[in-house]
Amino acid sequence: MAKIDIRKVEKAYGTNKVIHGVDLAIENGEFVVILGPSGCGKSTLLRMIAGLEAISGGEIAIGGTVVNQLEPRERGCAMVFQNYALYPHFTVAENIGYALKVAGVKKDERLRRVREVAKTVGLEEYLDRKPNQLSGGQRQRVAMGRAMIREPKVFLFDEPLSNLDAKLRVQMRIEIRRLHQRLAATSVFVTHDQVEAMTLADRIVVMNKGIVEQVGAPSDVYDKPASLFVAEFIGSPPMNIMDALVIGPDSVVVGDMVLRAPVPSGLAKGAPVIVGIRPEHVVARPGSADASLPVEFVEKLGTAQLLHGALHGRPFVVQMPPDAPTQSVAALDVRLPSERLHFFDPATGRRLGAGPDVAPKRPEPLLSAA
Ligand code: ADP
Ligand code: MG
Repeated sequence: MAKIDIRKVEKAYGTNKVIHGVDLAIENGEFVVILGPSGCGKSTLLRMIAGLEAISGGEIAIGGTVVNQLEPRERGCAMVFQNYALYPHFTVAENIGYALKVAGVKKDERLRRVREVAKTVGLEEYLDRKPNQLSGGQRQRVAMGRAMIREPKVFLFDEPLSNLDAKLRVQMRIEIRRLHQRLAATSVFVTHDQVEAMTLADRIVVMNKGIVEQVGAPSDVYDKPASLFVAEFIGSPPMNIMDALVIGPDSVVVGDMVLRAPVPSGLAKGAPVIVGIRPEHVVARPGSADASLPVEFVEKLGTAQLLHGALHGRPFVVQMPPDAPTQSVAALDVRLPSERLHFFDPATGRRLGAGPDVAPKRPEPLLSAA
């Protein structure tokens, strides 16, 4: 096990700078997920930890030792990729045990450890099969087993589940988490999938264009997104965003909709501000509503319904319970509870004020009787 310290790390390809000074301390045994859109530098950062990519600036230490100049094999990391290349003519056992064979470990010892690892990843009954006789998930587990058998101090995952179908992805997610509980190796997992990040991570590192936007527990990034980028990236469907103007210390206006809200200090009357609210926090409230949302269509998800419309020129979504009577709703009276509003600086996109912290966590939106 090992701690990873990333200090002011930069990466440039020629004159093209793609990582702009990342600082991050990953604790011993922690499961950290690096989350961000395609091209934001996730793989580059991971590959610099692994030693597959040179570090242009700053330093990386693993277990207290600066590894900038160390070869990949000297760093004690095992990496699992999206495209896990298995040896097609080797059996599962041979694939898993290959690193030990290369290292000259004796056959008895090798078989013992292969069986142990196979058990951990649930492949005991498949040891004699060839990769083409396995499902995608089983092949991915062979790749994990192959990484595990080296007993790495650090596990690095680069979108290892992206090629799997949805059901298998969920299953593997659970297995990876279970494995982590058992092995407690420091793990860094890269993904663009926010659900994967929310379910796997002890802490999420949200990246955007080569910088870290926010580091926090899944509930932190969900409840208190540090920027508009994080607010819109985390959560499905994403947070509703509105362009507002401050009209007083406790109110803003969006178009002609006046919202009572604890306006963050420092915002003068007339100042533009971006206000956000999550679809699951909007309350359907016939009668005393803040606005009437014209409903364009209803998306039924089984566990919830999403009512899609627009408010003052921006898309607006309301999440409702699956059994709410929404069939013939043309317009929905909605209330935007002040304690559920988030504020962002329109110029910088950074969060303003402490934001929602008084309300209980994610209550069901209510639909009161008409
Ligand atoms: P992500 O994994 O988040 O999708 P990457 O780390 O692969 O992003 O890439 C980050 C940026 O670095 C991208 O703009 C990409 O085009 C660029 N990049 C990645 N690898 C190379 C390379 N070998 N040479 C030049 N540019 C690269
Ligand atoms: Mg990548």
